Amino acid sequence: MSVPVRKFDAVIVGAGGAGLRAALQLSEAGLKTAVLSKVFPTRSHTVAAQGGISASLGNVQEDKWEWHMYDTVKGSDWLGDQDAIEFMCRQAPEVVVELEHFGMPFDRLENGKIYQRPFGGHMADFGKTPVQRACAAADRTGHAMLHTLYQRNVRANTQFFVEWMALDLIRDADGDVVGVTALEMETGETFILHAKAVLFATGGAGRIYSASTNAFINTGDGLGMTVRAGIPLEDMEFWQFHPTGVAGAGVLITEGVRGEGGILLNANGERFMERYAPNAKDLASRDVVSRAMALEILEGRGCGKEKDHVLLKLDHLGPEIINHRLPGIREIAIKFAGVDPIKDPIPVVPTTHYMMGGIPANYKGEVVAPQGDNPEVRVNGFYAAGECACASVHGANRLGTNSLLDLVVFGKSAGNSMIEYIKTERQDWKPLPANAADVSLARLARLENQTGGEEVADVRNAMQKCVQLRAGVFRNDENLAKGVAEIKAIAERAKRTQIKDKSKVWNTARTEALELDNLIEVAVATLISAEARKESRGAHAQDDYPDRHDDEWMKHTLYDGATRSLSYKPVHTQPLSVEYIAPQKRVY
Ligand SMILES: Cc1cc2nc3c(=O)[nH]c(=O)nc-3n(C[C@H](O)[C@H](O)[C@H](O)COP(=O)(O)OP(=O)(O)OC[C@H]3O[C@@H](n4cnc5c(N)ncnc54)[C@H](O)[C@@H]3O)c2cc1C
Repeated sequence: MSVPVRKFDAVIVGAGGAGLRAALQLSEAGLKTAVLSKVFPTRSHTVAAQGGISASLGNVQEDKWEWHMYDTVKGSDWLGDQDAIEFMCRQAPEVVVELEHFGMPFDRLENGKIYQRPFGGHMADFGKTPVQRACAAADRTGHAMLHTLYQRNVRANTQFFVEWMALDLIRDADGDVVGVTALEMETGETFILHAKAVLFATGGAGRIYSASTNAFINTGDGLGMTVRAGIPLEDMEFWQFHPTGVAGAGVLITEGVRGEGGILLNANGERFMERYAPNAKDLASRDVVSRAMALEILEGRGCGKEKDHVLLKLDHLGPEIINHRLPGIREIAIKFAGVDPIKDPIPVVPTTHYMMGGIPANYKGEVVAPQGDNPEVRVNGFYAAGECACASVHGANRLGTNSLLDLVVFGKSAGNSMIEYIKTERQDWKPLPANAADVSLARLARLENQTGGEEVADVRNAMQKCVQLRAGVFRNDENLAKGVAEIKAIAERAKRTQIKDKSKVWNTARTEALELDNLIEVAVATLISAEARKESRGAHAQDDYPDRHDDEWMKHTLYDGATRSLSYKPVHTQPLSVEYIAPQKRVY
């Protein structure tokens, strides 16, 4: 079957902050650049980011990129690569001012400079006192950023393929990347996009869990495509949980609610945080609160029919404070939880928020994979940036506002690397291998011909329940081993999914089935990677191994999809210009 081919210098999969920042770099350099997105670009998950983007501008108090770097290394629980962290923190002021010059409507201080607010883990003087480092556009920073970048791309003539779903990566006999296959959702037609360089900026995969703050489109497609193309995934055991997502819906309820005096209650009406964190109580750090909530639920003190959540009580604050300081939260609670927090508590659960792992990349945005003894050989023509990539700047735990920064720093840097590669190493297209679309066509054909299979939604629900239960906030050997066995069985079921609607035009049943393939890859990678790590570090809290073990475990996990096996590679302990920040105990 012949599949139509379209040619570009660069193909970017993903139109969130990372994809758009990279595309801008390429289009402005005069390269023919295509950006694919499953949704209209400004509906990418970046639009949901509220809090801000970090940069040591020092607009409110003195700040330095070295302090930002220290906080990020510490936040990563020493799993972050210090060369990449230095690169990001040094670049931050420049890329944020650049956004401002692109027209991003930041809030302003009296003197006209960009407004910066305090955020968790942002400190001056190497961890001593809080500093205001998060640059913000009200509580809609991601929205402002994404619209600004989209408009700049329109101006630069980036070519958008809206509602196109990339299916698989195309590698030639040398292992070099030469393009992707993609499905035009409107027509159901398959295409090959032939490119000199391909960037994945496909965002997160929070939808492997049943409770997630992530958009429905965050199905880890970039990771699924990478694994299917034989490239391992890095540090997939590390997922960040936010304590207060609306139970059932997952929509985020800001930490500001507890800042204003809101408290968490279990089924007995007990303010349980007093037991776990006698000083900070409900305002302890995110991982501490999430762990406490998970314990209450596991031990049977959860609320509701299913005993599967706790309550966030704020009615005692009175209508005045709620209406003035938390109007958006009241609206979310009414819409998504069906409760008015002026009268009733909001049902909340620790909710999956962010994937620290992903496609192994360096600070230049180049994807790297093991080859012989070298764990980090560049995959020619393949780049990754944003949440789908693991640079690794966030290590075992990400600091708030460092993701939006990661998008623009590594989006830009990947764009520059691609320009360089296209101008020097791949001036012409490498030929497509024969049958370049075979993997994708086989996946589509299986769905077309499958009879007597399972419903996509049933398998997806089983997967989400398994990951939620087995690889949640709290982990232990027994639970993880059960999870590995269960997810492998669920992955077998996923091979037999069936869609009844075989129509071509706008067939969402088909795209959901294709997304499930990617979710399953991510879920299996997560459980296998988590089961193997016998320590607690950052977001990976293992009951049976409550301490961090640097001697044995200060290393990155690599998960190979074909064999479902793991290998490891060293953390980059050598920053680019400053001294190594040696491991310490992580206390706040
Ligand atoms: C509710 C919420 C609030 C947050 N708040 C903050 C904050 O205040 N500060 C901060 O730093 N971080 C925050 N984060 C994290 C941060 O927003 C995300 O990590 C980041 O926006 C991800 O950007 P991205 O460019 O990597 O991907 P996304 O913005 O998720 O975009 C992914 C893109 O890939 C496309 N795509 C995916 N698969 C395919 C495919 N198969 N084919 C074609 N296209 C595809 C999608 O259509 C989309 O365009 C928040 C996250 C959430 C969920």
